Amino acid sequence: MAFFKSMNIDKSSDKKENKKSGEVEKVKILIIGSGPAGYTAGIYASRANLSPVLYQGMEAGGQLTTTTEVENFPGYPEGVTGPVMMEDLKAQAERFGTDIRFGEVTSVDFSKKPYTLTIDEEKDIEADAVIIATGATARYLGLESEERLKGGGVSACATCDGFFFREKIVAVVGGGDSAIEEAAYLASLASKVYMIVRKDHFRASKVMQARALENPKIEVLFKHNTKEVLGENNVTGVLLTKNMGEANEEDVTIKVDGFFLGIGHTPNSGIFKPYIETDETGYINTIGKSSKTNLDGIFACGDVQDNTYRQAITAAGSGCMAALDAEKYLKQ
Ligand code: NDP
Repeated sequence: MAFFKSMNIDKSSDKKENKKSGEVEKVKILIIGSGPAGYTAGIYASRANLSPVLYQGMEAGGQLTTTTEVENFPGYPEGVTGPVMMEDLKAQAERFGTDIRFGEVTSVDFSKKPYTLTIDEEKDIEADAVIIATGATARYLGLESEERLKGGGVSACATCDGFFFREKIVAVVGGGDSAIEEAAYLASLASKVYMIVRKDHFRASKVMQARALENPKIEVLFKHNTKEVLGENNVTGVLLTKNMGEANEEDVTIKVDGFFLGIGHTPNSGIFKPYIETDETGYINTIGKSSKTNLDGIFACGDVQDNTYRQAITAAGSGCMAALDAEKYLKQ
């Protein structure tokens, strides 16, 4: 993480250069985002001679840079860390000529072609086609202890990190479908799973509720809120507040080895919303089996348009689709 963050700092030369020239740069295809979807789109678009420019965004490498070991991405039989995998994907995109740049797309004007994108609020670029691969951000509770223990037992992805908790005790926060899905998955590996639900009922669908309530390894703690995640370098427990009704609360500590967030994701689609159709939760709508959005020449891939699978491999696959769709569009 530190490596990527420090690389992000030096954006000034790029900005100054453009300010000086006063010219608007024109590109055939601009890719926004540097997760598996963005880099894969870069690999395919550069191999199609489209000279893509890719802006990495605030968190170069995307969500995977916050995970530790990735063991389910095909092609890495021994597993790989998230940051290393993202460096590999970046190197592969660069090898074929993707122009990868530091910087964030801070606003867009998709009202006319060519589309205009503003980088770091300073520099405008015109693009014939745009691939949106800005991902989604897992929601966290916002506790200092939770932040400190990320990578030390705090995770927002059971599929990525559950394997490390075989025969251990874990907790999952949240009462929606995602939280139950995470809890059920973790219960297939861990010895016990606590679900921490703030209300006295689930938000999840009835079918999913039954999955949690009928699983002997899952214990649901309704009306509990997380006060602190406990542990120095690794998670050792969670301090909870139990709501006993009428402002009557009691502190409860549970011993756990892992703490999983299941309180939802926020797709990073905000700046596109005036132009691009999304569902009610902000995920970009793509047409049929394609990566096409409601606007000609604008494509979306990865977690910003996928509320279902949310895996690195599915994001990479959809990045490939977006580059192929963009290539076809530009040839028309
Ligand atoms: P949801 O918004 O449905 O649920 C979020 C859950 O997290 C709620 O129980 C909410 O509690 C809880 N929560 C939110 N903030 C906090 C907090 N600060 N502290 C404690 N708890 C908190 O998100 P999901 O990701 O679960 O689902 C998103 C969509 O994806 C839904 O439409 C869902 O149906 C769908 N989905 C479907 C699946 C399936 O069918 N297999 C699997 C996964 C997702 P509260 O209820 O109190 O607000």
